Amino acid sequence: MSVHYRACNLCEASCGLEITVEANRVVDIRGDAADPFSQGYLCPKGVALQDLTHDPDRLRRPVRRVGEEWVEMGWDEAFDLVAQRLLAIRQRHGGDAIGFYLGNPITHGWAPIIYIPQLLSAIGTRNRYSAASVDQQPQHLLSHLLFGSPLLLPVPDVDRTDFLMVIGGNPLVSNGSIMTAPHIKRRLEKLRQRGGRLVVVDPRRTETAGVADEHVFVRPGTDVFLLAAMAHVIVEEGLARPGRAESYVDGLDAVAGMVRQVTPEDAERRTGVPAETIRRLARELAAARRAAVYARLGVCQTEFGTTAYWLIHVLNVLTGRLDEVGGWMLAEPAFDLPRIGALTTDLPGYDRWRSRVRGIPEVAAEFPSSTLADEILTPGEGQIRAMVLVAGNPVLTVPQGRRVDEALASLDFCVAIDYFINESTRHADVILPPTTALEREEFDLVFPAVSVRNHVRWGERVIEPEADSRTDADILRELLWRIQAASLGRRAARALDAARRTFLPRRFVDAALRAGPWGLRHGRRLTLRKVRKHPHGLDLGALYPVLPRRLMTPDRRIRLDHRVVVADWPRVIAALHDDARADDGRDLLLIGRRHLRSNNSWMHNAERLTGGSNRCRVMVHPDDAAARGLAEGSRARITTAAGHLDADVEVSDAVMPGVVCMPHGWGHASREGVGWSHAASLPGSSVNDITEDARFDPLSGNAAVTALPVSLAPA
Ligand code: SF4
Repeated sequence: MSVHYRACNLCEASCGLEITVEANRVVDIRGDAADPFSQGYLCPKGVALQDLTHDPDRLRRPVRRVGEEWVEMGWDEAFDLVAQRLLAIRQRHGGDAIGFYLGNPITHGWAPIIYIPQLLSAIGTRNRYSAASVDQQPQHLLSHLLFGSPLLLPVPDVDRTDFLMVIGGNPLVSNGSIMTAPHIKRRLEKLRQRGGRLVVVDPRRTETAGVADEHVFVRPGTDVFLLAAMAHVIVEEGLARPGRAESYVDGLDAVAGMVRQVTPEDAERRTGVPAETIRRLARELAAARRAAVYARLGVCQTEFGTTAYWLIHVLNVLTGRLDEVGGWMLAEPAFDLPRIGALTTDLPGYDRWRSRVRGIPEVAAEFPSSTLADEILTPGEGQIRAMVLVAGNPVLTVPQGRRVDEALASLDFCVAIDYFINESTRHADVILPPTTALEREEFDLVFPAVSVRNHVRWGERVIEPEADSRTDADILRELLWRIQAASLGRRAARALDAARRTFLPRRFVDAALRAGPWGLRHGRRLTLRKVRKHPHGLDLGALYPVLPRRLMTPDRRIRLDHRVVVADWPRVIAALHDDARADDGRDLLLIGRRHLRSNNSWMHNAERLTGGSNRCRVMVHPDDAAARGLAEGSRARITTAAGHLDADVEVSDAVMPGVVCMPHGWGHASREGVGWSHAASLPGSSVNDITEDARFDPLSGNAAVTALPVSLAPA
């Protein structure tokens, strides 16, 4: 038996794990009590890492689809075939004929972060899509517009704040999202123990609302009005105190003029939140000694996602919380992802090019996933004819999944880098399965950049991979050199490949640490060697003020009245005063929800996470259920403009009247040919079969899957 320490790679919380291995099998996983950041916490998903590693349905060798069958093949044969097919398509139709879809697990490994931009560039395609444009693109866009990098993402300083307002987020279940904060429940409890206040604004009484001091129901999709009205109160009542930010933030007067147009009474009509409550919340926020406003999916996944999230920044700036202890702060990670990303990729940017079919601007070199099916199905120059799917399941993740299904089925070629034959990868011609995280060494490049404490950790390999297996780094590197050989010649491509093998990841990480904010340049002398001496992770302390020094805008200032948002403001004001409803009888609003034991679709093959009753039910308020003749356990038909599906009913006053709620990532049984046998035995439907790909935030392209008008009737 041996005991190993690694961070969990399943979600952003990055909890430290103590993993016991016997005969090269994981036999026990528990929270690592010596981890300075997570201090022994883990959620049920962390234990299931064991199931993922030893899942009998997991592919171990490359497979090729021959008719309805999957046939194993050798690695070199598979790499050669994939490269040949991609190169042939590029030669005939150009680089943009090859699209990439990236699932969110790619952010949990160093290799995809480093290699995928190189692969995209080697192929010469701008057709990059990811799960980010279904849930968080407004945040990246605003970080780019305001701070100069899509990766400079502020987080609430939860450990020191006295007042935390959470809007459209459920950290108790997500364990922090775009906020790395392991054991968030304990952090929130401590907030309240030190006399602080936690306020949750959400159309559902979420698990986080259940431990809050106050929960405020808000009509889905209307946060933009609520937030603007709160800013209005702060401006009108002379409560604005930007403090130190005034020295590097421009446009405060213009912003004040904008939010003055949204009164609490106007907002009440739209949001359902009483004007007096809006006024009180604004005053409490302004009066708190230390405070922060935090928002996630419920705000981002709407047609006003970017402007609504901009108001999160506005509230934090106006009340002097930006970059202040206990407020809205930026991490200073040892691996300086925003700066390295700017030096080595084309991520920082907006609207440098537009999507072919609908003309939607790119954000951080990505097009919105809502238009992926258009780009595959619409003939013409630049049409996508081949896809590379990396750890993603767009059929279940992207709006109008049936159309994505149809699009993937129509491709000339598709390759997937994935463990499973899932709803999307079943359309692949070849699947290249990587080893799991525990079978490789790992360094977290991403999440220390959105962490509530600065920390760094190197993860040693926990179990030996099977003979003749490949890590994700091996797979991406093998494809990269073959693609580069076509343009640079085999010798040059081989030389580059040899350099990658030599420098990645250890020498590269070490160089980045030495050159980074905690390295030699700043007299802190952090090296990989030192990091590796701390198997439980190295805590680098609480966040501290870093602005304006860390700003990456050309003039190192924040233009709060950014022209992109200012230009969108008339749309907000028009919607505020537009009382017309064109819902064709769809009189309820659909929102999403997540379960602690579920992580999108990719943990659904773990039996220990999916036991008990059907989790994919539609939650309906008792009044709405009674009005439609629905009862607990009955079957309802949910209809949108994109179609309908049937689901079991859960009657609950946890949702506000007029709102129904359903999780995404289910419906494995409804599609033929998937290879994850346990997932396929589970009940449920994919809510994205009925979400609409024409509904999105026009600034960021983020899918507007929240506040979707639906009708509900007995099935
Ligand atoms: S909260 Fe759960 S899934 Fe997330 S890192 Fe911790 S153990 Fe893993």
